[in-house]
Amino acid sequence: MILKTNKKYEYMLKYIDSEKYPINLYGYQCNKGWYELINKMIETIYYLDVNKDIRIYQIKEKFGEFRFYYNSHNISNKHIADIVNKYTTLINTTCELCGKPGTLQRNGYFQTLCKACIELKD
Ligand SMILES: [Zn+2]
Repeated sequence: MILKTNKKYEYMLKYIDSEKYPINLYGYQCNKGWYELINKMIETIYYLDVNKDIRIYQIKEKFGEFRFYYNSHNISNKHIADIVNKYTTLINTTCELCGKPGTLQRNGYFQTLCKACIELKD
């Protein structure tokens, strides 16, 4: 998905000097059930990112779980790490397809899904 994000967060998501990062090429590499939480997380980080130097490299699903890769001179900022951890836990219990509560499925595929979406898939 190509990002349609709030202008004020663009500095975190765009690399003027390089287009090669996955976030530039692919946007969010997961299904839309997670988008709302991801956007809330980015907004929260924005307010904590006092120096406005956070850069996000990649946002994706891997083996059914949320992955968030970023860098900052401020990386030791515990508040930001706490926010990322909090949202990672939240997203990993959210259906990647529809956004309802979900659990990680390991039935020949790895994906965090709710009961209804599991049934649709089977
Ligand atoms: Zn679902």
